[in-house]
Amino acid sequence: MNYDVIVIGEGVSGLACAGHARRAGLRVATFEANLFGGLVINVNELDGYPGAESGTLLASDLMQANSDAGVTSIQGEVTSIRSVGGAFEVSAGSIYGARQVVIASGARLKKLAVPGEDEYEGRGVSHCADCDAPLFQNEDVVVVGGGDSALQEALVLAKFCRKVHIVHRGSRFRAQKHLAERITSEPRIATIWNAAVEAILGTKMVEKVRVRRGGTTEDMPSAGVFAYIGLEPNVSCAPSNIARDGSGHLVTNNALETSMPGVWAIGAVRAGYSGLLRDAVVEAQRVADAVRDRLD
Ligand code: NAP
Repeated sequence: MNYDVIVIGEGVSGLACAGHARRAGLRVATFEANLFGGLVINVNELDGYPGAESGTLLASDLMQANSDAGVTSIQGEVTSIRSVGGAFEVSAGSIYGARQVVIASGARLKKLAVPGEDEYEGRGVSHCADCDAPLFQNEDVVVVGGGDSALQEALVLAKFCRKVHIVHRGSRFRAQKHLAERITSEPRIATIWNAAVEAILGTKMVEKVRVRRGGTTEDMPSAGVFAYIGLEPNVSCAPSNIARDGSGHLVTNNALETSMPGVWAIGAVRAGYSGLLRDAVVEAQRVADAVRDRLD
């Protein structure tokens, strides 16, 4: 099957780009290896994005609008993109043709890489405060990180938990000021600065978290661990000769085209993305317009 544009990833960036391109008259397909919606699907309260009730509803609305507009949604993992005679072959089980490709494959949460993290996955180690916070009613939990995600999720957990301990390797938060201010005034949240999680301990479920601070370690009673220590881009589908930055993000020019002409990158997979949802939507629409102009 041939399309004018194939968009890889059904997160907010990919869905917004695909819908905009379709409404501009292009034949569009989106590919998704997992559940549509990307990382926002786990966020109930979308910061700085008025109008959307939750991440799930925003993604569902975009999916529905795309379906109504005639975007083809294909479930499958894109394993390669090949440039062939000025167009592209996209492999996802079968081969699909595209005149242009937009990579919107997003990012995944980085792991702590400490003993116990994999062992207690789903038994106290969680990546979704909005989904799992009620399971930790009146318990102590640990959140790791000092960025927007860690602080936002700590605030969600504080509605349910007895105490939320933020373990942060630095001496100040890099998160937005308004989130840092809310953390400081929340009595159920305490921050352990200049500290690192060394191990997650338990029997059937997580019971303690080993925290190192300076020269000492302490096993802190904790029923849950939520690590938000940044993101890794999902770039395995991208040709290896597309330029990447030091952390693996795809490098784009000002128009958001990668070093392979005809392949564009938007959202969390690209170097320089702000991390703000409203910017994701703006850049998705910009790229859809640029692709349409290229194909005119
Ligand atoms: P982030 O901004 O990259 O922050 C990661 C945090 O984890 C930093 O505080 C960092 O410490 C710490 N860290 C990194 N590696 C670590 C390690 N190995 N061990 C312990 N701590 C480590 O990641 P994020 O919070 O997931 O946010 C990702 C992007 O999404 C950002 O652009 C963010 O602004 C955006 N976002 C926005 C919102 C919103 O608008 N409300 C919500 C969530 C995310 P240092 O500070 O010391 O480097």
